[in-house]
Amino acid sequence: MKITKVTSHILQYDLPEELGYSQQYYARRTAHLVEVETDEGVTGWGECFGPGNVAIANRGIVEQVIQPMILGDDPMDRDVIWHKVYNLLRDHGQKGMPMQSLSGVDIALWDIAGKVAGLPLHKLIGGAHRNAVPAYGYGMMLKRESVEDHVARFRDEAAAILGMGFKATKMKVGLGPKADARLCAAVAEGVGEAGQFMVDANHCYTTSDAFYVGRALEEMGAYWFEEPVAPEDLDGYRELRAGLSVNISGGEAEFNRWGWRSILENRGLDIAQPEVCALGGISEYLRVLALCHAHFTPVINHVWGSAVAVATNLQLLAAMPALPGGLTPWEPMLEFDTTHNAFRDELLTEPLDIQGQVARNGGMVSIPQGPGIGVEPDRDFIRSYELDC
Ligand code: CA
Repeated sequence: MKITKVTSHILQYDLPEELGYSQQYYARRTAHLVEVETDEGVTGWGECFGPGNVAIANRGIVEQVIQPMILGDDPMDRDVIWHKVYNLLRDHGQKGMPMQSLSGVDIALWDIAGKVAGLPLHKLIGGAHRNAVPAYGYGMMLKRESVEDHVARFRDEAAAILGMGFKATKMKVGLGPKADARLCAAVAEGVGEAGQFMVDANHCYTTSDAFYVGRALEEMGAYWFEEPVAPEDLDGYRELRAGLSVNISGGEAEFNRWGWRSILENRGLDIAQPEVCALGGISEYLRVLALCHAHFTPVINHVWGSAVAVATNLQLLAAMPALPGGLTPWEPMLEFDTTHNAFRDELLTEPLDIQGQVARNGGMVSIPQGPGIGVEPDRDFIRSYELDC
């Protein structure tokens, strides 16, 4: 079997409302799908992390840089292909956009391998440790409104997300440490005794500001404090983890086994959040997972993007061994964005209907059983949202 074509599909639409996190506001949803075709008619789908113009630039890397390296290769040789591409790009980017681009191609190759074997990805990896995972709903995005308006909205939205059936919810912060502590208190109140809440700072704090918010979160019983400081600030992560009892999580902006080796050896994370569509695809995710487990660091995948990314993550969550195991082991969760996303809800020929499953099944989501990543995008839908660039 030979690879005959590698295509990026960039999908985009204007959101019904502007949304924000600690770094910026945005009003457009983008998805970057990768399609790998073969001479035997089997086609694989993958996805690259990266919004807006980053996706458009990554398309150039996928189609102009990676495609010529792998045309004619056997798509079943995905590990050989991964190392060939990585080694050829090493001098030009061991992190960031080259790795995001390789990720989408690698996921598509695993999808092909699953289709050739007639097995879902979790079987190909080694089997399902669980047939369903609990989902947590994130929302509570920043808007151009007052702190008071944020407080009232966050309290109501936290309660509403639990009302949808999610067992836990995640909020954004980024208005400044004092205002953020008020937002967290509002969410704690909205959640009450009904569930857990988590706080995502998207690396907006200095270490001392992160300590201020983190101490407030200890009092409120938050489950985790995500990306409190910049991903480069390994010392800050280590100090926060040593000094706070709330779980410190992060890693969505880290890449490949070498980047992950550094943050894990530094002992700065209670919970690791690898992003399979950015760190190097499924091949590299499995190596990062092994590294996390070698450090006894539990993993809750970072999930962002279209239904292709969600399905890929469901497969990986099924195939993740319990750490450390036992009668009532620590369990991972599926991250689910409750804000408007047509690329997650309408892309597939057979939708995953995550929110319907959560509502019907006590917050649980089942693992797709079809071959490969287990889902098929609808080509008419892709055509209707695809950018001509
Ligand atoms: Ca995050």
